[in-house]
Order: sequence, then structure tokens, then C-alpha cells
Amino acid sequence: MINFNVPPFTGKETEYIMEAVKAQKICGDGQFTKKCNAWLEEKTGAVKALLTTSCTHATEMAALLADVKPGDEVIMPSYTFVSTADAFVLRGATPVFVDIRPDTMNIDEKKIEAAITDKTVGIVPVHYAGVACEMDTIMDVAKRHNLWVIEDAAQGIMSTYKGKALGTFGEFGCFSFHETKNYSMGEGGAILIRDEEKIEDAEILREKGTNRSKFFRGQIDKYTWVNQGSSYLPSDMNAAYLWAQLEMAEKINDYRISIWEQYWRELTPLAEAGKIELPTVPKDCVHNAHMFYIKAKDIEERSALISYMKENGVLTVFHYIPLHTAPAGLKFGRFHGEDKYTTKESERLVRLPLYFGLKEEEVSYICDKVREFYR
Ligand SMILES: *Cc1c(COP(=O)(O)O)cnc(C)c1O
Repeated sequence: MINFNVPPFTGKETEYIMEAVKAQKICGDGQFTKKCNAWLEEKTGAVKALLTTSCTHATEMAALLADVKPGDEVIMPSYTFVSTADAFVLRGATPVFVDIRPDTMNIDEKKIEAAITDKTVGIVPVHYAGVACEMDTIMDVAKRHNLWVIEDAAQGIMSTYKGKALGTFGEFGCFSFHETKNYSMGEGGAILIRDEEKIEDAEILREKGTNRSKFFRGQIDKYTWVNQGSSYLPSDMNAAYLWAQLEMAEKINDYRISIWEQYWRELTPLAEAGKIELPTVPKDCVHNAHMFYIKAKDIEERSALISYMKENGVLTVFHYIPLHTAPAGLKFGRFHGEDKYTTKESERLVRLPLYFGLKEEEVSYICDKVREFYR
């Protein structure tokens, strides 16, 4: 059986976890957390990166830091994971869903402006499959309407748009290190901060509303409760697991890219024959091979394909059910404009196995079976 996903493991994780244990520093912000934060800053160019307990929590932090209030409206795609909306719904805001582009499955940047009302406070682009949204247009709309941008870059680490790292365009960017992502720590994430003046607020919020981070840097001689806050910092044992992978980030990325390209090569004839569609990577985007998906004709064909693959020992999966059609989406959000592509395209999409360690022969086998299905 070929699994859809296997969590990344390089071999060094257990050694680093033991190092954290031996250092008798297993709570948050230990040596491995610091290494990961520094690596993320260096890699992305963000002025500050802080590991968090998840991308969901990074987005919650961003919503708090952006001072989102009840009644506010936040523009986002409906084709995304629940956390994109949850972080804002928790603050009493209304997600306003905008249609996606069929080529990248990202929010259609041309449809954002029409969804803006006097209650709109921000835009949340989601970089699906690690392929960037059209950030020039989105940042321009945000600037003209005085809106903040919080990037859901859960899938976007190592990806760029016009040479700039995803997660660094908006005020805040959120990464995920869940076991299904390119790099993992089990559960975990990071928040990227663009502007210097937001760093202290973020540190305080993440550390239960205290100025403990300042205290540890020796900038003050005792720490105290200074603002509202929560606990968004992960254990250093989890950070140790992640560090083993960030150290090998390029190698893991290259590995994933080679699988992605193999799928692309082997399935191009089927796409040219009009049987399936392949993903689009616009020219300004360098992606991280987070995902390889194909699109079937419709939902019936997709279900048959998933069953066929399963009978042949390959687990393939569909993805998001559009949020505006889910019970909570109906309750908390609304769709602006026509759902021309969100539902239709989401029903055609199927993801093929892609993980660090998946073998070339396995990818060939998977492609054989897809071809066989269409014969
Ligand atoms: C994985 C994912 C999340 C959630 O990440 P967690 O770290 O599990 O909270 C949010 N948004 C998108 C687009 C994701 O793919």
C-alpha cells in the first residue's frame, strides 16, 4: 500500500530531542526553538519569526494582533482549511468568501475589491499547494483600502513570489509544521512578523500576556503581566524534531520537487489528451512541491478514480469542502459574488501521494495506474 502521506523524518530527530532532554530544557523557547526561529528569519527575511503550537494558533495570534473585533469582515477564499476562518470567527468577525481562480485554486485577486464594504478590515490570502497568490494585486488593493493582510502560508514555506518568501508580504504570515506539511514537528507552526513595532506585542501575546521574552534577554529585571495573552509557544522537544528537518530543508525540498516533476512529466500526455488537468504554476511563483494534484472531469469520475487507485494499493485523497457550504460557514460567513469555480473545481481535484522518501518507482507505479484508469 502506498500511503498518501508519511510524516517527514530525517534520522536526527531523536538525537536532538534527547539533547533537549539532557539540557533539562523541554519547555518553550529553548535552544531548538531559537535555532528554528533564526533559521526562519534568515530564510524568509521576516524581521521576526516565532514558533507556535500550530498554524491555527499563529493565525489566531495574527487576528489578535490585528485587533479584529466583532462585526468586522475579513475577505478570504472558501476553498481553504477551517483554521483560516476560525481564527477570525473566534474574534466575532465575519469571513467573506470570494471565489477562487481555477488555475491555481487561490483566491481570485480580481474579485476581492468588489467584496469590500465599510466593515472590511483585512484580506487573508491562502497560498494553496505552496503556489503564491497574486500578491502584487492583493497588496495594492489592501493599501488602497487601508486593510491589513494576513497570509495563510501554512503550505508555503520555501516558496516565493517574485523572489520574496511567502508569509512576508502581509503584516503577518502563518506557517504550519503539522505532520502533513513539508517540514514537521508533529503539531506546530510559526508566525512571521513584517514590522519591527509589532514584535513586542507578539512576544507578549505568545507568553501569556507577560514580558518574559524581554526578561530573558536581560532587558528588564523582572517580568510581569502587561497585556492580554495566551500560551502559543511549543515545547522545545517539538522544536528539536523540526530542527532536524530545517537543517536539511534544501534536501527535502529538492526531493519533493523531483517527485513533483516526475508526476508532471509522466502525466503530461494524459493532460494533452484532454483526460485530466494538471496544476498551474504562474511564472512569478517558485513553489515548494507541497502537493501534486490532478483534476478529473467531475466528482463522479474523481470518486471512481480514488476507488480505482485504492483497489490498486494507492491512497489518493480529495481536499477541502468549500467553507461556505459547511454548517459553520453558513452560520458565520457569507459568500460574495458568484461561486463559479470554488465548488466545481474543488469537486474535481484529487491529490496524489507526495512525501519525503516516496520512491521514483512508486511514482511511476502511481502514474501507470492513473493512465490505466483512463484507458
Ligand atoms: C495545514 C493548514 C492549516 C492548519 O495548520 P495547523 O498547523 O494544523 O494548525 C491552516 N491552513 C492551511 C491552508 C493549511 O494547509
